[in-house]
Amino acid sequence: MYYQVEIEDQKQLPNIEAALKIIDPAAVIVKDRSNVDLRLAVSYTPDFRVRVWIPGCEASEGRWEYHDREIWDERYQESDRKQRLKELIRLGVITVVGGRFRKKPPWGILSGVRPTKIYHYLRDKGFTPVEIKDKLQRVYGLAPRKADLLLEVGALQEKYFTDHNKIGIYIGIPFCPTRCRYCSFAAVSLETHGHLVKGFLTALKREIEAMAALCSEFGWLAESIYLGGGTPTSLDETAFAELLDWATRAFRGAALREFTVEAGRPETLSKSKLSAMSRAGANRISINPQSMRESTLREIGRRHTIEDIYRALNLAKEFPGLLLNMDLILGLPGENGAVFLESLRKVIDEQPDNITVHTLAPKRAAAWRKSFHDLRLAQTDDLAEAMERASLLLQNGNYRPYYLYRQRLILADLENIGFTKPNRESVYNIQMMEERQTILGMGGGAVTKWVVGPDYRVYRHQNPKCPATYSEQVEAEIVKKVHQTRLLLS
Ligand code: SF4
Repeated sequence: MYYQVEIEDQKQLPNIEAALKIIDPAAVIVKDRSNVDLRLAVSYTPDFRVRVWIPGCEASEGRWEYHDREIWDERYQESDRKQRLKELIRLGVITVVGGRFRKKPPWGILSGVRPTKIYHYLRDKGFTPVEIKDKLQRVYGLAPRKADLLLEVGALQEKYFTDHNKIGIYIGIPFCPTRCRYCSFAAVSLETHGHLVKGFLTALKREIEAMAALCSEFGWLAESIYLGGGTPTSLDETAFAELLDWATRAFRGAALREFTVEAGRPETLSKSKLSAMSRAGANRISINPQSMRESTLREIGRRHTIEDIYRALNLAKEFPGLLLNMDLILGLPGENGAVFLESLRKVIDEQPDNITVHTLAPKRAAAWRKSFHDLRLAQTDDLAEAMERASLLLQNGNYRPYYLYRQRLILADLENIGFTKPNRESVYNIQMMEERQTILGMGGGAVTKWVVGPDYRVYRHQNPKCPATYSEQVEAEIVKKVHQTRLLLS
């Protein structure tokens, strides 16, 4: 839809357009168009009195006004006030335009990937959880249940943000047996790209060694190692064992508390790979069925069966001390909320330490997106209700939410939530999501995030996703990362 916005301060237009997209993802602000779908007016005064209205509309929901006195609290700085002005304008826009289209976004104006950051930002300023809950609803427009969720997750995470010399290590293996139809990760099928594995691993070994030297130079200690991708366990047994060996030699030290290996595809797991993990000190594994329904597994492009999932789980359970995570996806084609909840019950029966509930987000990179609208999709209300019921089921099973994130185009305006049994939360997931700790990424498509300074400024670098390009460019990637680290931290 086309919108026309009257506002004196034209610099706010991108902010207003972003708010419009929360209600109407196709929203575009245009100038001088006679056939606009909706006209909007926005004004504000220096004392934070913000007004948003639909010119000519007399209905009460066509106008919104807010006078923010709380922003003069001495715990805020000038930069916070600038930000607050943007937030209030967004709140006014989603309230008025949402009222027009009968939409009340549950996450209010929080359109980003990491809503929990707002909790930590306010905690850093010294606000109490009660004060934060009030702001989440009043200033950010969150539904009460989402505000409660943020509070619960934020409170659980706080204890992890203490030591600035620790970092997280991510090693990306961009190979999988086949490519899932919803996949938007850096992953290629071994069937078509298996010939690239050897060159990729040679380059990765080189990068791991160079990043280990960088850790020594800056006195960094790895708190966590995450071997992801892709599916690292899809490597053959010799290559997989070697990879574990490189990672432990390079990064295993006194601060290491967690070493995760993704075995997303259960058919790739074997007893000897688990033994190699055990020898290397890996203490967490992720086996990700996504659905416990056979026909769905076929629909999403997997070749394994439900029996393979149980076989992998039973193998993993032979290794005591190995924490287990299982992922499920809500909103897969052909699955309504009831089918998803059936899968969840089966997963809970296995008593993994962590269960991650994703909501499908058909991203641009996924081949599936093209035919997405043709697929039989469950209804929005049904999915939202399923997520509520999933949370209840998990809470009754002694699981608590410990990290969450959202994605663009996520179905039903929902979120992805990691649940944990008491004291079994993954430190890597928390640090990576909240961006309070530097994450050094190696391998295909791996993202390095430097977190710098008291305001946790984040700088990013991503390695090439394609294994062939990565292998060719690894030396240049190393040079860039070493240079960037010295620039930021020396
Ligand atoms: S297992 Fe994960 S990384 Fe591999 S293709 Fe499927 S979604 Fe992508």
